[in-house]
Amino acid sequence: MKPLTEREIRSAFVNCTKGEATRMNIPRDLAERPWDDLDFFGWRDPQAPDRAYLVAEIDGRLQGVALRSSHAGSWQNRRSMCSLCVTTHTGGVSLMVAPKAGKAGKQGNSVGAYMCSDLACSLYVRGKKDAGMGGRLHETLTTEEKVERTLANVATFVAKVTA
Ligand SMILES: [Zn+2]
Repeated sequence: MKPLTEREIRSAFVNCTKGEATRMNIPRDLAERPWDDLDFFGWRDPQAPDRAYLVAEIDGRLQGVALRSSHAGSWQNRRSMCSLCVTTHTGGVSLMVAPKAGKAGKQGNSVGAYMCSDLACSLYVRGKKDAGMGGRLHETLTTEEKVERTLANVATFVAKVTA
């Protein structure tokens, strides 16, 4: 994806208030991120570890989703699979919950999905980050096809948040 600026990131969020988007902690090293290898930009809030964010360009529009990871649960030490990039980790997948956009979110509706806890799906798909033993299922898909699948899964998730 093309490199994002802090301003682009803050204005992309679909499911939080302007105030929240202004206050959220965005990584300071944006210039050093491996943008060429990213299908979406995801990060954990370094000051609030239960908060995570992802920003993706979907249908030519930048869309950001604020997420909460649920607290440590029984799945933390089990092998589980990221629903975005289909990588399996032991203890490296979190249930992320996003308040829905608009009125539905204010009424407390949310959408949940299992995701790589570090949101580095793009790097796992490309083999640039190792998910540990048995991290990847043997698949006959090419990296390009896996990237496409990840992007489609992200778009589906974001569509559920904005639905
Ligand atoms: Zn993933």
